[in-house]
Amino acid sequence: MQRLEHIYINGEFIVPHGQEWFDLHNPSTEEIIGQVRLGDEQDVQRAVAAAKAAFPAWARTTREERIAALRRMHKAIAARQADLMEAVVLEYGAPRERGSWMASYPADVIAQTIDALASFEFEEQAGVASVIMTPVGVAGLITPWNSNAGFICNKLATALAAGCTAVIKPSELSALQTQVVAEALHEAGLPKGVFNIVNGLGSVVGEAITRHPDIAKISFTGSSAVGQHLVSTGATTMKRVTLELGGKSPTVVLDDADFASIMPIVLHAGFANSGQACIAGTRILVPRSRLAEFESIIKYAVSHIRSGDPRDAETDIGPMVSAKQWERVQNYIRIGQEEGATLLAGGEGRPDGLPGGWFVKPTIFTNANNQMRIAQEEIFGPILTLIAYEDEADAISIANDTRYGLSAVVLGRDVERCERVARQIDAGRVLINTLAHEPRAPFGGFKYSGLGREMGKWGLSAYLEPKTLLGAAEAAKA
Ligand code: NAD
Repeated sequence: MQRLEHIYINGEFIVPHGQEWFDLHNPSTEEIIGQVRLGDEQDVQRAVAAAKAAFPAWARTTREERIAALRRMHKAIAARQADLMEAVVLEYGAPRERGSWMASYPADVIAQTIDALASFEFEEQAGVASVIMTPVGVAGLITPWNSNAGFICNKLATALAAGCTAVIKPSELSALQTQVVAEALHEAGLPKGVFNIVNGLGSVVGEAITRHPDIAKISFTGSSAVGQHLVSTGATTMKRVTLELGGKSPTVVLDDADFASIMPIVLHAGFANSGQACIAGTRILVPRSRLAEFESIIKYAVSHIRSGDPRDAETDIGPMVSAKQWERVQNYIRIGQEEGATLLAGGEGRPDGLPGGWFVKPTIFTNANNQMRIAQEEIFGPILTLIAYEDEADAISIANDTRYGLSAVVLGRDVERCERVARQIDAGRVLINTLAHEPRAPFGGFKYSGLGREMGKWGLSAYLEPKTLLGAAEAAKA
């Protein structure tokens, strides 16, 4: 039983002013495995003051000094990979493949940020003007539970690369990961105050960050509902915001696709991160003329997907992160049936042989349409919905008939046709016959899936204000 009592402010682990303790659970067993002490508004005040005091000196650092600091961060985080792996299995229930990625990604994303910083143009000419990219100020970084360590490292590395300092509010459900990251960042020996971490509830610590006049920018990853709220709250103090929000991504199966060979991509896209992934391909659009064939192949493939103990090498899908999330998924399985969709696989309750733990059955609905709630709302569990379409134009129209626009997958034999379809889908990222990731490309969503972009030069620009300088060259010549 771990008791995590400290937050991190101005280069030190300190006991927060907040008195409340929050239970941490192992989702595979439902047992309480620890407690974290939560910060409050006063802790946010201290953290913001430290970040504000550190900002002028950090904003003046050179590219080389920032790269040196990020390299120390990278080394320190990479050295804790095994501890991160243990934390994501214990508090999150990530199965082996996902867990390994969640343990290595935090260091990888810092390395990717170093690459972006190395080639970033902080100054360029626009006509007779010089345009200077200037750090925006103190950034508030708010992360979700489904990839907490990765998002802390991505957002913090990018903020620091831009010359900003930061106050981080990690997910309260991910305190073990946060502790490992905080210890590693402390080891990295960054200047005092450039980053600060306040554990706490969204409604307390998150709100205080969002309302604070000395926070210039918020970078938030989480649900669309909270994202919308942050935009309106942050407007009072004119905050810059980057939002990475939810999704209901389509996987468009074209009528020339070889169903057996694309099935691993279909299921990986849908069940990634035990279905708790913003980019999950949860609406599978299938040509009506081949629906029965697709149903039989996916039904067979899903019968080989195992939901269970994340430490078991055979497990594909781990538990849902919390009892609340488990209930939410069960509720959507009921809603789908009430709406008239048919269960092709899975259903309510726990998988056979698993009496405890927040496990759900990998579930596929068919005989569904795109108006149903199971096709429009983000469920955040391994629940996929097959939707039949008539022709290519119908497939594109259904793919775009959603409030979200984060990601999409297009699968087919004719790559030119796939690209033609991909270009018509309204999403921040469209993948053709692949699930590959490109860290140099922007990541983010259309519509309710977000605002702005992370990754690469686009991610870095989001922490910078362009400042136009006129007359300087003439003055120098005179
Ligand atoms: P959430 O919105 O409930 O919480 C995210 C974070 O915001 C947490 O740290 C939470 O404490 C905080 N928060 C909650 N209320 C707040 C408030 N009023 N003010 C400030 N902060 C507040 O989301 P979650 O359940 O942790 O994560 C799942 C969601 O995140 C899903 O919708 C998923 O799609 C989304 N997500 C998006 C991406 C992406 O890159 N687009 C990636 C991962 C997750």
